[in-house]
Amino acid sequence: MTEDLLDDAAVRFLEACQHAELSEDARERLRRPNSSLKVSIPVRMDDGSMRTFAGYRVRYDDTRGPAKGGIRFHPSVTAAEVTTLAFWMTFKTAVMDLPFGGGKGGVSVDPKELSVAELERLSRGYIAAIADVIGPDVDVPAPDVATNEMVMGWMAHEYAKITRAHQPAVITGKPLALGGIPGRSSATSDGAFHVIATLRDRVLADVDEPTAAIQGFGNAGAQLAQRLADDGWKVVAVSDSSAAVHDPDGLDIASLRAHKDDTGALSDPPVGEEIDAEALLALEVDALIPSALEGAIHADNVGDVRARVVFEVANGPVTADADAILDDAGVEVVPDILVNAGGVTVSWMEWVANRQGEQVAEQDVSARLEARMVAESEAIATLADEQDLRLRTAAYVHALNRLGAAIDATGTVATFNGTS
Ligand code: GLU
Repeated sequence: MTEDLLDDAAVRFLEACQHAELSEDARERLRRPNSSLKVSIPVRMDDGSMRTFAGYRVRYDDTRGPAKGGIRFHPSVTAAEVTTLAFWMTFKTAVMDLPFGGGKGGVSVDPKELSVAELERLSRGYIAAIADVIGPDVDVPAPDVATNEMVMGWMAHEYAKITRAHQPAVITGKPLALGGIPGRSSATSDGAFHVIATLRDRVLADVDEPTAAIQGFGNAGAQLAQRLADDGWKVVAVSDSSAAVHDPDGLDIASLRAHKDDTGALSDPPVGEEIDAEALLALEVDALIPSALEGAIHADNVGDVRARVVFEVANGPVTADADAILDDAGVEVVPDILVNAGGVTVSWMEWVANRQGEQVAEQDVSARLEARMVAESEAIATLADEQDLRLRTAAYVHALNRLGAAIDATGTVATFNGTS
């Protein structure tokens, strides 16, 4: 495989290649990203000093359409991480059959240390630095970890200033007032909810009131906790970077969300008991739902997992070696490239609406999102049954079949040596 990809992505890719009908040409094309840009972003801080931040934008593949993927602001952002996330986006857009390829961007920064004005200068500086490699028909960014609607609004505005043209389709996840779409901010959790609802009979058929532990109480995790609780699930534990909260009888999610909105953190929660963050992963629950960062469940803690099924709302929360151990233990893992694909699916609707100068009603967004999530979840489950595959491998094969067809449509070795 390639040094450009983290090992985990390579393991999944190579495993799926064994089960997909993939030409050597397609495999060769998907080995490396199309382009990787590293930039330095100088930012004038509020105290007058100058700080320079490292930023990245990787376009992994754009055979099926413009690259698509979020921008994250986090201290752990590196070139390798962004490349891996762009690789996963390539498969996510193919899983959902969206007319996009895969990209990703990020800035190595702790946004909690910046004032709002510094954050705006950084957001605008990042877009100025990558403006040559993005565009509505080229590569379309969106929110990711620690970036939000306001950040997308600043970025879209900066791009319009640079290009001297109003081009809202350059970025998705914008505020409604700036060309955003209703339902985008709940799209990841809504999509995850539909996947869970579709596969529930398969993975938790015998349970009436399933229990869940959710690691990560950001945009996706907190909204999904609410939807599951409203749907009759018992959400027994949630956590963020400040605390993990537990109540075996089920937590009052609304009061925890209000507390986090007020104080910015889950610590000193109004309900439940604080437990150790690692203890959350070891709870005996029906579903464990990692919704924070990559690598949360790894070789050293996977032995503690007592859940029956893992739904990956975060990107890459289970490492490849932990995956194999869960598989041996009979724990079903429903993969990120399906579970969290609701975000990019509604991004696609925003991009289409912007290009057409149309507005879309919220009920149309949610109906289309649900139909897509259900259809692709069922297609992956069927493929898993037909080929006797884990759901993760089935999702990759499903994506590879579409990616391979697109790559092969431009010709394979057989086309060019006259044997086809
Ligand atoms: N950052 C999200 C993801 O990882 C959304 C990407 C998008 O909407 O383009 O899927």
